Amino acid sequence: MYYSEYETEPREKRMKRKWKGVRDVLIAAEAHSGEFQARLEALGACARDFKDWDDYGKIPPLRKKDLIDWQKEHGLGWFLDCEPGQLKRIYQSPGPIFDPEAREEDYWAWSEGFFAAGVRPGDLAQMTFSYHMTPAGLMLEEPLRDIGCAVIPAGPGNTDKQIEFLTGLPVTVFVGMTSYLKVIGEKALAAGYDLKKDFSLKKAYVAAEPLPESLRREVEEMFGISVRQGYGTADVGCIAYECMELAGMHLSNYRHVEICDPATGEPLPEGEVGEVVVTPFFTDYPLVRLATGDLSSIDLTPCACGRTARKLTGWKGRADDTAKVKGQFLYPSQAATVFSKYPQVANWQIRIENPGGRDELAVVLEVGHGLDTEAFAADFQAVMKLKPIVETAAPGTIPVDAPKLVDERTFD
Ligand SMILES: [Zn+2]
Repeated sequence: MYYSEYETEPREKRMKRKWKGVRDVLIAAEAHSGEFQARLEALGACARDFKDWDDYGKIPPLRKKDLIDWQKEHGLGWFLDCEPGQLKRIYQSPGPIFDPEAREEDYWAWSEGFFAAGVRPGDLAQMTFSYHMTPAGLMLEEPLRDIGCAVIPAGPGNTDKQIEFLTGLPVTVFVGMTSYLKVIGEKALAAGYDLKKDFSLKKAYVAAEPLPESLRREVEEMFGISVRQGYGTADVGCIAYECMELAGMHLSNYRHVEICDPATGEPLPEGEVGEVVVTPFFTDYPLVRLATGDLSSIDLTPCACGRTARKLTGWKGRADDTAKVKGQFLYPSQAATVFSKYPQVANWQIRIENPGGRDELAVVLEVGHGLDTEAFAADFQAVMKLKPIVETAAPGTIPVDAPKLVDERTFD
């Protein structure tokens, strides 16, 4: 069961369709977006110079930091291909960034994600994202209504009231943050509710925070439900979403998503970890290659659900928190998965130096008692593809708030 025919189309057909989407964005951006006109001018190029995906990948991404600065400097209208009053809504997300919403149906493209998570006509959903200023609440409510569900616009907080709705009405779908659903569950348990008998919940659709598998399992078991996540931003809406098979998030059919070198903005070879760069097919608010600052990679294996869109492997940290060592990106969040296997490591820090111009990677470990440093080094190298020099230190040596990655290299 799919929401649209796009979900199962062959890759070649999909990429052709996406190219048309991207080209329309380029044309609109060149005609009316002061921001994109400035980028083209810096490149000495015009929109029709970009003839294929390779050309497209060479356009420097639009950085979120620049979006914030330029909205302040030039106003929102500088970015638009319409008058602000011709939009449908304007929100503001942290940054602060104004987030325009135009009038197209399913503008934020979450419908296919909800459907893939098992949401169906007749479901009753409780929306716990905010409706105020920020887009999340309305962004996620409209697709639910398009599918044919009723929505309780609960908004965030007010946990007792949330429980009252969840137990007083046959609410089948929770929408919000997993951590908040856990809070609701714990509070309801403390108040004497039976989460499986007194609640009608079947599914949760979650977003806006990383979802560790342990938390997913905990909340799934707590309520006897399935928890599926979507990944998106306030600027572009849905980027990817999980299906019932798990193991990754299918890329949206309505955005072009690239995994790029955080330094150059150029697409990386398939499968590598890099920054998620998104082009939504918006023409009123054209965003050409918006760099999200999030890190992920693409899984090329086909999915048993039958959807042919490739999958993002999940959130792997922030792009500004990285360094390139011996041609290899090093992400502290990825390194953390190695450290977490060693409970005797109280704290750690990665230091990069380049004595004599050669990169050296040192891993400083605070350990109270026995650790096989050779085994640790091998384990680290297997995951990170970089050989570390392992140093041990007494507990308390590394300040608690010290950065996980310190780049002390000097370049002449
Ligand atoms: Zn799937």
